[in-house]
Amino acid sequence: MIARVTLEIALRKEFDYLIPPELRAQVEVGTRVKVPFGPRQVMGCVTALVEESPHTNLRAILKVVGAQSLVTPSILKLARWIADYYCCSVEAALKSVLPEAVRKEKAGWRERLFARALPLAGDLPRLTRRQQEVWNVIEEWRETVRKLEDKGLVSIGPQISERDPYAGELILPTQPLALNAEQAAALQKIIESIDAQPEKAGKRESGKAGEQVCDASSSPARLPTGPPAVFLLHGVTGSGKTEIYLQAIACALQQGRGAIVLVPEISLTPQTVERFKARFCSGPLQTLVAVLHSHLSAGERHDEWHKIRQGRARIVIGARSAIFAPVDPLGLIVVDEEHEYSYKQEEAPRYHARDVAVVRGQMEGAVVVLGSATPSLESFHNAQKGKYSLLQLPHRADDRKMPLVRVIDMRQESRKEKGTPIFSQKLKEEITLRLERREQVMLFLNRRGYATSLQCPKCGFVAECPNCSVALTYHRSRQRLLCHICAYEAQAPTLCPNGKCRNPAIRYAGLGTEKVEDTLTKLFPRARVRRMDSDALKRKDDYRRILGDFRTGKIDILVGTQMIAKGLHFPNVTLVGIIYADLSLHQPDFRAGERTFQLLTQVSGRAGRGEVEGEVVVQAFTPFHPAIQYARRHDFAGFYEQEIEFREQLKYPPVSRAALLTLKGRNEEKVRLSADHVRKEIEKLAGRGSQKVGKRESESAEPVKSGAMSAHFPAFPLSQPPALHALPDLIIAGPAPAPLLRAETYYRYQLMLRTRQMSKLSRSLANVLETLSLPEDVSLMVDVDPVNLA
Ligand code: ADP
Ligand code: ZN
Repeated sequence: MIARVTLEIALRKEFDYLIPPELRAQVEVGTRVKVPFGPRQVMGCVTALVEESPHTNLRAILKVVGAQSLVTPSILKLARWIADYYCCSVEAALKSVLPEAVRKEKAGWRERLFARALPLAGDLPRLTRRQQEVWNVIEEWRETVRKLEDKGLVSIGPQISERDPYAGELILPTQPLALNAEQAAALQKIIESIDAQPEKAGKRESGKAGEQVCDASSSPARLPTGPPAVFLLHGVTGSGKTEIYLQAIACALQQGRGAIVLVPEISLTPQTVERFKARFCSGPLQTLVAVLHSHLSAGERHDEWHKIRQGRARIVIGARSAIFAPVDPLGLIVVDEEHEYSYKQEEAPRYHARDVAVVRGQMEGAVVVLGSATPSLESFHNAQKGKYSLLQLPHRADDRKMPLVRVIDMRQESRKEKGTPIFSQKLKEEITLRLERREQVMLFLNRRGYATSLQCPKCGFVAECPNCSVALTYHRSRQRLLCHICAYEAQAPTLCPNGKCRNPAIRYAGLGTEKVEDTLTKLFPRARVRRMDSDALKRKDDYRRILGDFRTGKIDILVGTQMIAKGLHFPNVTLVGIIYADLSLHQPDFRAGERTFQLLTQVSGRAGRGEVEGEVVVQAFTPFHPAIQYARRHDFAGFYEQEIEFREQLKYPPVSRAALLTLKGRNEEKVRLSADHVRKEIEKLAGRGSQKVGKRESESAEPVKSGAMSAHFPAFPLSQPPALHALPDLIIAGPAPAPLLRAETYYRYQLMLRTRQMSKLSRSLANVLETLSLPEDVSLMVDVDPVNLA
């Protein structure tokens, strides 16, 4: 038997090794092994077992590491798909599927030190007084504990002590709620689909090379399962989506399968976790609920992960990377707030957890439920095309009305007041009213700091970051100028720094949350105002504490960035104010309208979740923009219709798929020339310049570079790469300077590729990447399905 192994040192290859007879029983797909590699020994992961190798003189595996293989065959297959689709190495993909705490095993199980009194041989040696005292205590205790053991009251033995991040929280069990008709209909569909899933589709395949690659973009007809298994649950905020998740999970558990619930990091509040724990902490379906997110300690993450791997926790709730949790068999994946951009990982592998969820569901025969009040255009488009089934909950569960949204035209306000006020007359009145009625207010501005920029009205000087092409933000509480891209800091000057000017009347333009807070305390001196943004959160539990104070009524007005926009439920909030709604419209991004619509809808969803009806005041300089108007009317369908038309015209996602190629380096000229070069190479492959296809074939006979490579074959691609000319709809845009031309001292140029057939494009791109020669100080990043275009 021969094991095919990927090594942890990043080489886009796999290597064949012999399995020595004594290790044969322990080596399977997913096993971690130590192997010789040249003069070194390196760690790797077995990705396949094969009978024969095209190579001779194979070296043998040295050692099996860890008792239980960490990567299950299904997860391994998923990692391969990620490498293929997101154009990264298998090693990089494998790294992201295991938490570092598990991969490195450094955290390990927590062991405590126990002191045990040993049987005395002869007399007690001479002890100091202190030693004697401790010895006496041990003796005394030992006697007493042993007596208790004799009585059958205690047992004594060694034990691993497991870390539980939620230990010490009292959780009251909850029962399933009686669903309303809309909820019941939606749940019914999901349950039917869970019932109809074949026994673990993933098990049927062996994970050998050359197999069919699942692809979120391919037609469902190619996929192994029958009934539609991806649902888009479009329900307004408060429509009872979470209750549906809970009851669908119960159904999966009944069938002996587990579930993964993804929520955006920001809404992984104790509140959310508790709702899941409370439902499954007792009763016939009782199981542990494991939690995975970035605020756990390495040790906690290690223990939570192993609870899942050992099958003790069958429900996992977590942020993006929890999609790789080793739940097996898996019956259901829920992606809550599926439109959230934080599901996209912004470093390699640049995967989107929602899309990985869909692919994993297909591979393992699990039902996938994507939930949102403001679905992404991608998901809604898929639902329109019949790839996903659409479930809708247009009403709040308690039948409360949607909040009344008023849009204030700030251009008129500016005319009235000579200069732009932060608060319109209307917003001030509404806040006053809430303070009188002892109700609470949330004010939202998605920009932290005090002023956006430092400007000299006389000479036009603007303080800019020396490393990035952005203006520095003024933070008044610290009296500093800060760069929000690279964290560069400088003293805030009192005079214009321009030597010829030296104007003392230097001005701070624009506004941030700090200034909103400041102005509020002046306007409403008696109100208790708190700010919540990443500047205000200094210590680990600040977030929890501020929210706790708000909940218990110790704060009247909470000012914040998007941090307060999501998933929080405060019954006493009856007014939500959006200070500057157009802010997100002015981004150089084709999704600017979509983002604005989502943000306004989500923020409005915070109002009126209690007895009193909620109101929302939206301040805007472009009050008639469709994103603002459709949000005002809570009209998702209307927004979708006009937005998809715009995407269709320009062939932007979801009508096509995009890959963003970013070149970066410190020398602008070199970066620009390299970008031109990349474009030419892609054009050649696309058959639009001189033909140069089939390079790959000549390369597969690539000479072995190191004596250590006793065996090798290209891991990429598994099948012959299609030439780009097989993509007649390929659009190559750019190169152009990135919207943020310079970031952290690097200049960046971009190309955007668009096609309907991304998996084909990815495979060809991998090919281009390997053959491309770029200057050493210029690097190229590929982002498939990018969400951040800056
Ligand atoms: P969403 O996840 O869509 O925002 P939630 O599941 O949080 O909505 O539900 C909003 C509120 O309505 C919660 O307080 C929840 O307990 C309540 N709720 C949900 N479904 C029902 C139901 N069928 N009957 C009564 N209350 C419900
Ligand atoms: Zn900077």
